Amino acid sequence: MAKWVYSFGDGKAEGAADMRNLLGGKGANLAEMSNLGLPVPPGFTITTEVCTYYYDNGQTYPAELAAQVDEALGQIGALTGRTFGDAKNPLLVSVRSGARTSMPGMMDTVLNLGLNDETVGAVADESGDARFAYDSYRRFIQMYSDVVLGVEHHSFEEILEIFKENNGYTLDTELTADDWKVIIERFKALVQEELDEPFPQDPKAQIWGAIGAVFGSWMNQRAKTYRRLHDIPASWGTAVNVQAMVFGNMGESSATGVAFTRDPATGENALYGEFLVNAQGEDVVAGIRTPQNITEAARIAAKSDKPSLETVMPEAFAEFDGICQKLESHYRDMQDVEFTIERGKLWMLQTRSGKRTARAALKIAVDMANDGLITKDEAVLRVGASALDQLLHPTIDPDAKRDVLATGLPASPGAACGELVFNSDEAVEAAAAEKNVILARVETSPEDIHGMHAAQGILTTRGGMTSHAAVVARGMGKPCVSGAGSVRIDYRAETLSVGGRTFKRGDIVTIDGATGQVLAGSVAMLKPELTGDFGTLMEWADATRRMKVRANAETPKDARTAREFGAEGIGLCRTEHMFFDEGRILAMREMILAETPEGRRTALAKLLPMQRQDFIEIFEIMHGLPVTIRLLDPPLHEFLPHTDEEMAEVAEAMGVDVERLRRRAHTLSEFNPMLGHRGCRLLISFPEVAEMQARAIFEAAVAAAKKTGAPVEPEVMVPLVGIKKELDVVKERIDAVAKEVMAEAGVTIVYQVGTMIELPRAALKADEIAGSAEFFSFGTNDLTQTTFGISRDDAGSFLGDYQQQGIIEQDPFVSIDREGVGELMKIGAERGRSVRPGIKMGICGEHGGDPSSIDFCETVGLDYVSCSPYRVPIARLAAAQAALKARQDG
Ligand code: ADP
Ligand code: MG
Ligand code: MG
Repeated sequence: MAKWVYSFGDGKAEGAADMRNLLGGKGANLAEMSNLGLPVPPGFTITTEVCTYYYDNGQTYPAELAAQVDEALGQIGALTGRTFGDAKNPLLVSVRSGARTSMPGMMDTVLNLGLNDETVGAVADESGDARFAYDSYRRFIQMYSDVVLGVEHHSFEEILEIFKENNGYTLDTELTADDWKVIIERFKALVQEELDEPFPQDPKAQIWGAIGAVFGSWMNQRAKTYRRLHDIPASWGTAVNVQAMVFGNMGESSATGVAFTRDPATGENALYGEFLVNAQGEDVVAGIRTPQNITEAARIAAKSDKPSLETVMPEAFAEFDGICQKLESHYRDMQDVEFTIERGKLWMLQTRSGKRTARAALKIAVDMANDGLITKDEAVLRVGASALDQLLHPTIDPDAKRDVLATGLPASPGAACGELVFNSDEAVEAAAAEKNVILARVETSPEDIHGMHAAQGILTTRGGMTSHAAVVARGMGKPCVSGAGSVRIDYRAETLSVGGRTFKRGDIVTIDGATGQVLAGSVAMLKPELTGDFGTLMEWADATRRMKVRANAETPKDARTAREFGAEGIGLCRTEHMFFDEGRILAMREMILAETPEGRRTALAKLLPMQRQDFIEIFEIMHGLPVTIRLLDPPLHEFLPHTDEEMAEVAEAMGVDVERLRRRAHTLSEFNPMLGHRGCRLLISFPEVAEMQARAIFEAAVAAAKKTGAPVEPEVMVPLVGIKKELDVVKERIDAVAKEVMAEAGVTIVYQVGTMIELPRAALKADEIAGSAEFFSFGTNDLTQTTFGISRDDAGSFLGDYQQQGIIEQDPFVSIDREGVGELMKIGAERGRSVRPGIKMGICGEHGGDPSSIDFCETVGLDYVSCSPYRVPIARLAAAQAALKARQDG
């Protein structure tokens, strides 16, 4: 015979914690607590399979169910010495829903079920407390009518309010038994009126009504929406828990409360929770009365004048404290528990793993591992890698007062405060004068890079989460609020106005990149904490992971940050960013606009020493670690002069006519620059560029090696290769320059030449390409663009529709599209290895800092991931988690 009902109570249970699929989370843990011998009111769980049966069979129950429920009710009766439905000695129960994971949207719990006009009298007699009995009965009518019969809660509240007003009461606790009797009559009349039927008096009808309501709620709109948002299949179903009532509302020696075994905000190893005397169920969280602290320490910290549980009920408290510790060591995790004290006797009503902040998660994991409760590997798995982001930037003090001017998009996390500036040059000037600034722009472009670097934070009024400002800020680890549409920026007047208030250049504002808020003035902040628990967990993560973690960095500042955050090299050093600097852009423009190789050489000769100096610094900072340098990649037009002023400046420097220059600039413009003359295509048309860059790299390697005494092994990376021949042509130049430099310096330089795999053709022809390439770096930004044929810069306008309509689940620019782009990566890796076994492979681009993509990289067997410096710790943790998972799976 099928078993649909599982009993628990009196130190044993038919279920256990590992049966949560069948019994739901609440039911499984109630069973487990019973098995542990904890004081749990006896009860039973109707399985999730009944829910499935119910919906598969036209909302009917399995034939055996009624008998099994009767038998289980009888068992509760035997344990409590009562009988369900008996007029003299009635058993009262609660009916609670409980899916595998706790799910808002499901039916609310019904308490005190089994009360009716007759049994209420018996409860009054037995407890010697008529007020308690009638208070419980009116609660039951109210709850049952609301959640089972669909009579709205507020209609009952209204009756109660009017009664209190007419009788001069303010608190519910002032009502007497006789008062409640009057209320009960009014409540019943309301039900009769609304439903044209009396309130059900038969306890059997009551319990089946409640069970049906729990199963019914599985398919209500709220629950369906929640399941859709959280990927919970409808087939899971919910369980129903029926449990003997215990009463926290039996006078001053009774109470009800909720607690966490550790502080869920800080992770501090101290019991943390609240309770109310003479109260029932959800009164604590409902906010009707102000709850009291459980421990004396918490009461003192909260400066509360209401006594703690520790002082008012010391014995129950001591038992509760012990149980919490026992539960924690049993479940090996911080627990969130619910309890009730009935006339001094403690009862446990629920336990589950508690939700916590990133900070608390970190501390709890490290503390538990240090105490030997969990292993270090488990600790590593317990902290969400993405959540670390919250800890790596300054954040606004949660207690600080906020004067919110506007809310834009939370484009890049962290908070920053500074004087307003409205253009990038001013940002640089102010930063040079040691001032903190917030760069406020309508939107940013590649020419703002230096200003963005100099600013503490960036604010834009236009553009989304993938706008230039957002992407670059995230890469730099700078706080950014983008698309704050209600803010108006006037560049001429140098003002920012919003909601009738105007701020001038130099006025102080704060931005919160975690919430998107723009705030007036400076606001108190909390600094990130990189040592302590954070450092410890990182150490454990580093000891477990297989993949290395490198950073994308091109400035000495980024390189230093990367090292501080634990990067093991640079996976992507973009050389073009080095040319946006003032003083360099002019030489760059001369080079681009030159019409002959000689003209280009002249300009390149000016760039060579600057570029060499950049590399020397970076090699010194990263000494002993690998550095991958990518040769010039972007379309040339990004460097072109735009304004007349800029044109005139370049023309003068080159000694040519402005008109002629303008024409030349015009011929360089392209219809589709991202698919145009860029990457290795440029290096093929203008080999002098590759030669200059290679020379700068190798000369810097020689110089840095001399200075630090450690050899530098540069990895020269050729972008946008799709055809082996492309790489060969560029590589020939690089090798030739290497030979020259070595001969000049009289030293040997160990170096590698490799390529980005960022075009589908490159992935498909990876075997051929590996014949020349000594390493691969998957450039998944471009690979995603070219695989989907979607431009990342334009995707914002329609990817949202795609996600809404379920065409794609995740933004493929945020998390690797495993099926498409990922397939190409696998093909590329496999074919590359087939020709060059053990070929070094990594990933650069934003996916290198995304935990889910990092997990995928582990399965492809990449040697390293490379991401922006601020995401290095996230990547270190994610790589460790990926390695642990791979070990478990394999
Ligand atoms: P939720 O899932 O919303 O937390 P619960 O089923 O846990 O709902 O019930 C909410 C509260 O109702 C519990 O925390 C407890 O205070 C009270 N409650 C539930 N069952 C009982 C019971 N058998 N005796 C006393 N109180 C109960
Ligand atoms: Mg609960
Ligand atoms: Mg690219």
